[in-house]
Amino acid sequence: MKMISLQSGSNGNCTFVESCGVRLLFDAGLTGDTTARRLEKFGIEIQSISGVLISHDHIDHVKGAGVLHRKFNLPIWITQKTYERAAWQHRLGRFGDLNFFKSGERIVFGKSSEVSVETFSTPHDAVDGVCFVVDDGLKRLGIMTDLGRTKSIATSIRGVGVGDNSESRNLSVVKGAELSVSRQRFFEGFRESRFSEYAEDYYERIILTLDGLLIESNFDIEMLSGGSYTPELQERIRGRGGHLSNLETARLIKASGKKLRWACLGHISKENNTHDVVLETHREILNSKIPLSIASRYDTSELLEL
Ligand SMILES: [Zn+2]
Ligand SMILES: [Zn+2]
Repeated sequence: MKMISLQSGSNGNCTFVESCGVRLLFDAGLTGDTTARRLEKFGIEIQSISGVLISHDHIDHVKGAGVLHRKFNLPIWITQKTYERAAWQHRLGRFGDLNFFKSGERIVFGKSSEVSVETFSTPHDAVDGVCFVVDDGLKRLGIMTDLGRTKSIATSIRGVGVGDNSESRNLSVVKGAELSVSRQRFFEGFRESRFSEYAEDYYERIILTLDGLLIESNFDIEMLSGGSYTPELQERIRGRGGHLSNLETARLIKASGKKLRWACLGHISKENNTHDVVLETHREILNSKIPLSIASRYDTSELLEL
C-alpha cells in the first residue's frame, strides 16, 4: 500500500492512497488543477483515480469536490448530511450521481473487493465527520485528521483490541469496481450514541489495528494559549469538536503497540505550531519508537509505503 499526502492543513487537504490497483483520494481540499499537478509529480494520472472520499464538510476538505467530479469525472463518496451542508455552504456546483455512505459503514473497491475503506464517526465540529481506515487484507492505513477529542483522550493511554467487523452486502457497481458496504459491528453501538459517551480509548482502539497512519498533530498547547487567536477560537480548537495537540497525538501514537510502522503528522497549524515543535514533542514522548514524517501545508509529502 502506498500513500502520498498531496497537502495537509487548514489551507486544503488531499491524500492519495493506492493498493491492489485501486487509487483513492481522501478529501478534496485543493483545486482540481493543483490535485492533478501534484499527482503528476509521481507519474499518476488523475483520471486513473477510482474514487474520492470526503471526510467532512469543512472547506479545506471539500472545496475541490465539484471540479474533481465534473472536470475529471471522478466518483465522489460522501455522507448525505456532509453533502447537503457543503453543497449549500461552499457552492460546490452540480453533481451527477453521488455515492452516499453512512458513517460507520465500510466501502469496498476493486474487482474482487480487495480494498475496503472503513469509516468512523468523529466528534469534530462538522455536521457528520468521519475518519478512515484503508484495509487491503495485508495492511491497514489510517487517514485521521480533524478528530476532535473523545472523553479524556489526553490522559487515557490504555489499549484494547478490536473485534471483527465482517458482514457485507453488495450494493452497486461503480466505475468497474464492485462495491459493498457493511456496518462496523464493533463500533455500531458508538455510532448511534452521543460523542460524549464514546469510549475514552475510541481512537486508540482504531490506531492499535494500524500498520501506517496519517494523523493530525494540529497545535502546540503553549503556542495556542500564547498566540493571537481569540479566547473563543482557542476554546474551539482545544474543545471536543476541535483538533488534537502535539502532545495528545504523540500519546495516541505511543499507545499504538508494535504493529505501527510509521506515522505521518499532518494538519499542522500555521499559527500555533512549527515542524520543529511537532517533532520535538513527538520525539520526547515516543523516544524514536516509530519513524515520523510530516505532511506539508504547501506541497506533497514523500511517497510512504507499507
Ligand atoms: Zn481540516
Ligand atoms: Zn475540519
